[in-house]
Amino acid sequence: MIEHVAIIGAGFSGTLQAINLLRHDGPRATLIERAPVAGLGLAYGAAHPSHVLNVRAANMSAFPDDPSHFVRWLESRGVADAATAFIPRVTYGEYLRELLDAALRDPSGRLNLVRGEVEDLEFADGVHVRLTDRSIHADAAVLAVGNLPPHDPPGLDPETLSATRYKGDPWDRSVPEGLGDKDTVLIIGTGLTMVDVVLLLDARGFKGKIIALSRRGLLPRSHAPASAWERIGERPGSTASRLLGSVRARSAAIGWRNAVDELRPFTQAMWGNATEAERGRFLRHLRPWWDVHRHRLAPEVHARLMAVVERGQLEVIAGKTMGFDEQADGIHVAFRRRGSDASETMVAQRIVNCTGPLGDLARTEEPLLQKLAARGVIRPDAAHLGIDVDNQGQTIAADGSPNGNLYALGPMTRGAFWEIVAVPDIRNQTWSVARRLSNAHWVGGEGL
Ligand SMILES: Cc1cc2nc3c(=O)[nH]c(=O)nc-3n(C[C@H](O)[C@H](O)[C@H](O)COP(=O)(O)OP(=O)(O)OC[C@H]3O[C@@H](n4cnc5c(N)ncnc54)[C@H](O)[C@@H]3O)c2cc1C
Repeated sequence: MIEHVAIIGAGFSGTLQAINLLRHDGPRATLIERAPVAGLGLAYGAAHPSHVLNVRAANMSAFPDDPSHFVRWLESRGVADAATAFIPRVTYGEYLRELLDAALRDPSGRLNLVRGEVEDLEFADGVHVRLTDRSIHADAAVLAVGNLPPHDPPGLDPETLSATRYKGDPWDRSVPEGLGDKDTVLIIGTGLTMVDVVLLLDARGFKGKIIALSRRGLLPRSHAPASAWERIGERPGSTASRLLGSVRARSAAIGWRNAVDELRPFTQAMWGNATEAERGRFLRHLRPWWDVHRHRLAPEVHARLMAVVERGQLEVIAGKTMGFDEQADGIHVAFRRRGSDASETMVAQRIVNCTGPLGDLARTEEPLLQKLAARGVIRPDAAHLGIDVDNQGQTIAADGSPNGNLYALGPMTRGAFWEIVAVPDIRNQTWSVARRLSNAHWVGGEGL
């Protein structure tokens, strides 16, 4: 019987897991967060006021069974036309904090928040959660630890570069500090994190040159006003080529945004049904295209980004960095443009790593995950996107057995679900895992 669940990490996933256990009248929960503020995680904790959600408010309710919850919350604060608005991420953080604070005040006292870093889990008579300064016993644990940070780009050794020149963490608050108008900032990566950094530099009045470089140089596309269309009734085949064919045909008929969006209800099942080889093909050939069409920018953010491009301040290069050499005037970066054999050099006074989050357990430097993986308690999924879980969210050990005492949630489960990065998907997952843990609680309690 599960009477007590320890949840490791209080970003969106862990926080909603805790709140949903309360809502399901399930086992009591201890939510453990190492950051000073719980409830925000990376997405809503590291945001600047210029950063807005990339999903309309109508789709950002924390609760799958109450889809207009966030819109009502905004309306109660006087936000006009809330449903179609792209709200600042800091405001979404306030929403989550309020939900967490209300859950912590619940008179049942079934939710407890603990500040600290979980260093290890030991499984004997349930699970012993080892923090730096104490140990907590629970019947089951949930890993809600979020994405792993990006790796340094190949050929870049941070030990050889000064900390003011190279920012390996794009969320480091010092990223825009100390730059002059004649300086050049090289951003490695051209996805959503790059856009955040460009907006931040712009908001801080940076007038120098910004170069964003990635292998294909693809930029995230923009949302457009929603339009009605007749959705496909069944999912396309699960091979990469059939998916591409189907999206192309539907794009011609209903527009590419609708063609991508109508796949949403099927994406997890398509991924689940695809063979390992097909998933590999998708990741190798289609993923960059999928990412920029699927994870779109709010129109106002896209317009701001394009303004920086049009005034010649932001240059986007498709290419590959080859080497980094710090000299007195900056870091000399050797690179090759896509399709060219010629090596060129640029000099950047700052480099920001925006290559995006990773999930490869084999390369993680997180002590908790390292220990669990080394002992075979958890294992990487076949595509090395994160932690291997079954379709119920139970982690799978190195010997292939599911662990009913250890669940994982959020982006680190994308090997099993793929489409499990944004709020609309994670809220369903936290709701289902909470229901499962609550059933285990009640079934045990009733002696069934
Ligand atoms: C910049 C950004 C913007 C996004 N914008 C949107 C958006 O507009 N719309 C949308 O739908 N989705 C968006 N997403 C995606 C989505 O909201 C996030 O992926 C989601 O918030 C993931 O939450 P999480 O709790 O799984 O991970 P995280 O937010 O990373 O939280 C994990 C938490 O676990 C803690 N932790 C980790 N290890 C330990 C440990 N050993 N002990 C204790 N604590 C630990 C960390 O400190 C952290 O607080 C965005 C994501 C990012 C990164």
